[in-house]
Amino acid sequence: MKTLLAINSPLIKKIATFSFLIVCLASVLSWGLIKDAYEHYSQAQNNIEQFSDFYRVLDVSNKLAEERGYANQLIFATVGSMAHAKAAFIKSQMETDEALTKVPQDILSSALLQNTLSHLIRGREEVDIYAAGPRTDPHEARKAVDMMMESTEYFHNVLFVKTESFIKMEPTAFSAILQGQALGELRNSTGKLGSYFLYYLNTGTPLSESQLEKISRAWQQIETQWWLLGIPTSYSSDTDSFRTLMLKTRHNFQNKGAALIRHLQTQSENRESYSVSVSEFTVRYQDSLNTFNDMLQMYLFNVHQYYGKVKNQALEHFVLTLIILFTIYSLAIIGILYIHFNVVKPLLKLNVRAKSMGEDDVSSPAYQEVCEIKALQSSLDKLEEHIDENRILSDELKKLTEIDALTGVLNRRGFELQREKLLATVSADTPVWLVLIDIDHFKRINDTWGHPAGDKVLASLGDTLNHVALPNWMVARIGGEEFAVMFSSDSQQDVLNSVRRLQMACRNLRVMTDNGEVIRLTASFGVAKGLPADQDRMMSDADQALYQSKKTGRDKITGIGDAESH
Ligand code: GH3
Ligand code: MG
Ligand code: MG
Repeated sequence: MKTLLAINSPLIKKIATFSFLIVCLASVLSWGLIKDAYEHYSQAQNNIEQFSDFYRVLDVSNKLAEERGYANQLIFATVGSMAHAKAAFIKSQMETDEALTKVPQDILSSALLQNTLSHLIRGREEVDIYAAGPRTDPHEARKAVDMMMESTEYFHNVLFVKTESFIKMEPTAFSAILQGQALGELRNSTGKLGSYFLYYLNTGTPLSESQLEKISRAWQQIETQWWLLGIPTSYSSDTDSFRTLMLKTRHNFQNKGAALIRHLQTQSENRESYSVSVSEFTVRYQDSLNTFNDMLQMYLFNVHQYYGKVKNQALEHFVLTLIILFTIYSLAIIGILYIHFNVVKPLLKLNVRAKSMGEDDVSSPAYQEVCEIKALQSSLDKLEEHIDENRILSDELKKLTEIDALTGVLNRRGFELQREKLLATVSADTPVWLVLIDIDHFKRINDTWGHPAGDKVLASLGDTLNHVALPNWMVARIGGEEFAVMFSSDSQQDVLNSVRRLQMACRNLRVMTDNGEVIRLTASFGVAKGLPADQDRMMSDADQALYQSKKTGRDKITGIGDAESH
């Protein structure tokens, strides 16, 4: 019943509701934290995937530029290097095709892919046809070169589109993406720069105005791309090695490819015959670009590592958030349970006990409604009242045990207890007096008028002694018909007067029997004086004095100096 009460208690319900609200609030707040951490994680994951897609498009662009270079080598190969150039071109085609298969379908629209492929196939066919033919018509050669260039252009545009969409998705990776794009652009521009010379080298004619214009634009583009690549970025964990490789690539290109082109350009401007054959040029120029691929791979590896690190950090953050929230929840639940079992339940039990001590009906529905901690207060108040009442009652009961029922004066136990109290209130050198009073020949009274009459005499004498006694005196019945009076006084004369008053009161006492007869009596007095510490001796002295009074004829006072009287 008590457990049921505790569970049904409005207090428990309030605490449960409050805890529930806190948990709900914490859940809403923590949901935001978890969501935030998870979003960071999934964004990092998404970036990795996006970047992988970006990388695949970039790789195709690079492979296409390489293939174009090998196509040029094949178109202008010498008879001796034909087989080698053919093999290199086929190998390069395979690499391009493989890279193309890796581009996810959703990145490239099928139309764009189809366009790229059809141009590429036509370009490749053109190159193959030219290579298989007599290879004498420079216009046919130029057609094949341009066809390959055109096919790579289609795909190259894809890189731009992808770059733009990727930057929009991940603005923080702006520089990383821009550099990636710059890499693709650089490879394309340098490749095309070489291609511009092929027809003129092949025909031994000077470069046209429009071609010179194109070449000058290509130089500017190339310079811009190198500059973009040189911007320090935070995405790479190993920028130093990338920078070294970039410088090496640039150096290689400047010293070989660029130097060769400048040399040829000067020869063209001076209308001199070219010092390098077209076949030699294709090989040497392709060679000056051979570390581009390594640079691209390193760049991609670095960026990939960077995103991997970001993803791991986001994952750590997410897991840490979960651990912290789990800990907070656990502590909150432990706290609530602790308060429930160690504070609320004991308090409610205390309430029930306090109520039941206050004699309320704890099983009543009305009680259950007010079974609150506050109710404990009123229960305790009631309990306090009860305790006060009981204390008064118990004091009264205690007093009763110290009173002689027949005479209304203290009994022997009461006498001893009250004597302790009296002696405790006076100083050690205060004289204390003890008077023992024993009714003379009481046996005869009993014998003559009967025991009830004797009782009446005892009760009357108790009344009389009480009446005569001063307020600070102790009057007790310490035996059958033996009384004791105790008080403190400095004056022996006062004491003597007082005892005489007692004696006179005894002598004057008249007790009426049921038969209407009158009983008279006398008593013998034994007085002893002493200090508070002398109680045993005083009792024995008073006893001796009483004995003396009896012995010398009764109705006497003995023990108070020479003042024994009749
Ligand atoms: P003495 O003058 O020597 O004191 O003689 P006494 O008869 O008074 O003394 P004793 O000791 O011989 O007798 C006391 C009597 O008191 C005996 C007993 O029956 C009687 N008594 C004691 N208690 C009570 C009581 O409560 N009621 C009545 N009625 N008698 C009592
Ligand atoms: Mg006696
Ligand atoms: Mg007697």
